[in-house]
Amino acid sequence: MLTTHPFESDADGDTLREECGVFGVAGSDAASALVALGLHALQHRGQEAAGITSFHHGQFHTHRAMGHVAGSFDRDDVIRSLPGTVAAGHVRYSTTGETALRNVQPLYAELQSGGFAIAHNGNISNAMKLRRDLVRRGSIFQSTSDTETIIHLVATSSYRTLLDRFIDALKQVEGAYSLIVMTPEGMIACRDPLGIRPLVMGRLGDAVIFASETVALDVVGATFERAIDPGELVIVQDGQIRSIRPFAQRFPRPCIFEWVYFSRPDSIEGDRSVYDVRKNIGAQLAIESPVEADLVIPVPDSGVPAALGFAQQSGIPFELGIIRSHYVGRTFIQPGDQVRHLGVKLKHNANRALIKGKRIVLVDDSIVRGTTSLKIVQMMRDAGAAEVHMRIASPPTRHSCFYGVDTPERAKLLAAKLDLGGMTDFIHADSLAFVSIDGLYKALGEARRADIRPSHCDACFTGDYPTTLTDQDESADVDQFAMLAERVS
Ligand code: SF4
Repeated sequence: MLTTHPFESDADGDTLREECGVFGVAGSDAASALVALGLHALQHRGQEAAGITSFHHGQFHTHRAMGHVAGSFDRDDVIRSLPGTVAAGHVRYSTTGETALRNVQPLYAELQSGGFAIAHNGNISNAMKLRRDLVRRGSIFQSTSDTETIIHLVATSSYRTLLDRFIDALKQVEGAYSLIVMTPEGMIACRDPLGIRPLVMGRLGDAVIFASETVALDVVGATFERAIDPGELVIVQDGQIRSIRPFAQRFPRPCIFEWVYFSRPDSIEGDRSVYDVRKNIGAQLAIESPVEADLVIPVPDSGVPAALGFAQQSGIPFELGIIRSHYVGRTFIQPGDQVRHLGVKLKHNANRALIKGKRIVLVDDSIVRGTTSLKIVQMMRDAGAAEVHMRIASPPTRHSCFYGVDTPERAKLLAAKLDLGGMTDFIHADSLAFVSIDGLYKALGEARRADIRPSHCDACFTGDYPTTLTDQDESADVDQFAMLAERVS
C-alpha cells in the first residue's frame, strides 16, 4: 500500500495522501530504536520527513530530517544521540505548513512547566483563526505548522497544571488530531472527540506503545491492547497508566478512507482487518457493477485487495496485469517535462502477453483528478486490451478533506466537475463504476442511515463534514468579498 499513488507524479498531484503517522514508547531502554522501527512501518503515512524526540535525565533530545525514515534513523550514531526510556516520533507529509525542517515533528517548546514535545496526525481546521488571535496576543510562532497552535494555546492557558492547560488547549481546537505528547512527567496520547484519525495502544513487556496503526505494533513485536477512544487521553507516568475523558461525549466519526486506502492492509481497526474490508469492497463492487470480462487486474499496490474481492465475487480470473518495479525511486519518475511520461513506464509496465486481446476490469482505490486513471487505461489499450472497464473501490471523491489528508481543491476533483459519463469519457474507459456509499458501509458490516449521523466521516464523498470548518468558511468569505470588490471596482 502506498500513500503516494504509484502512478502519481508531482506535476499531476493525482492522489490523496495521508498527512502523518505517529509512534511513541514509554518505559523501554530501547525507546528511540523502537520508535525508528515503528516509524518505518508507518512510512506509507508520510514520506516527506521524519523526527524522533527522546527524554533522558531531565533533557529532551531531538533528531529531525527530511526524507524517509531509512537513511535518517537507521544509523547507530543517530539512535545513540536519542537516549532515554521515553521517545516519540512522527512521519510527515505536509498539508499545512511549507516543506521545511522547522515544520518537521515532533515540535518542541520550553514552557513554564518544562519541555513539551508534540507529534500530531490530523489537521486543525481552525488553526489559522487561532493563530491570528495568538499572534495578536503576543505569541511568536517558529513554524507554519498547525500543530504549533496547540503549543501556544498550552503556553498561554490560565490553568495551573500542565494537564489542565493541555485540555484547555484541546477544547479550543476543532478538526482532527491524534497526538503523542512528551513532558518531563511522561507521555500523553490522545484522540480528538470524533476519533477522525486512528491511534492504538500496545504493550511490549513493561513498555507502553502508541501508534497510528497496529502494523507498527507488529513490527516492534508489541501486542495490541486497544484503540484509544475518541476524546480519550491516556497518560503514562512513572510506569502507571491512567485514562481521562475530558470532552463532552460525541458520536464518533473516524475517517472511512482509512479503510479504503490510507491504512496498511495488514493493520487491524476495531476488530476488523483492513485487508478483509478492502476485499469486501471489491466484492460489493462486483455485485453492484458487474461486467463481462476476461481478467480482473489491480492497479498496484493499493488496488490489490479490492481486485481480489471483485475477482472472487465475479468468478473472473485475477491476474497481475501491471507489474511494478520496486527499484525506481520517486525522484527518478520525475526527470523533467520532456520525458515525464516515460517515468510511468519506468515504474510500471503492462504485462503485455497477458492483456493482448482481453477484456480487462481494472480495479483501483479512488479517482482524484483522473489523470492517473487516464494513463493506466491508455497503458492497457497500448498493450492490446480489447476492452477496459474501470471499477473504483470508493464512491466518487467530490469534496476536499480538511482533516489531515492532502486533496486538491474541489474544482480539480474529477467527480466534482463531471458526471459518470463525462468521467468515463475523460479516462477513455469502456465503462466506469464506483462502489456506492451504501455499498462501502455494507463492506464494513454497517449500514449508512440517512436519518441518523453516519458512523464515519465520509465527507470527501458526501460533503457531510463532521466539524465546523472555521478557516475554510473564513477564507470563503474573504474570496466572496474579493469577488464583490472586484465587481464593484
Ligand atoms: S473528508 Fe474523507 S479523507 Fe478526510 S477525514 Fe473525512 S473521510 Fe477521511
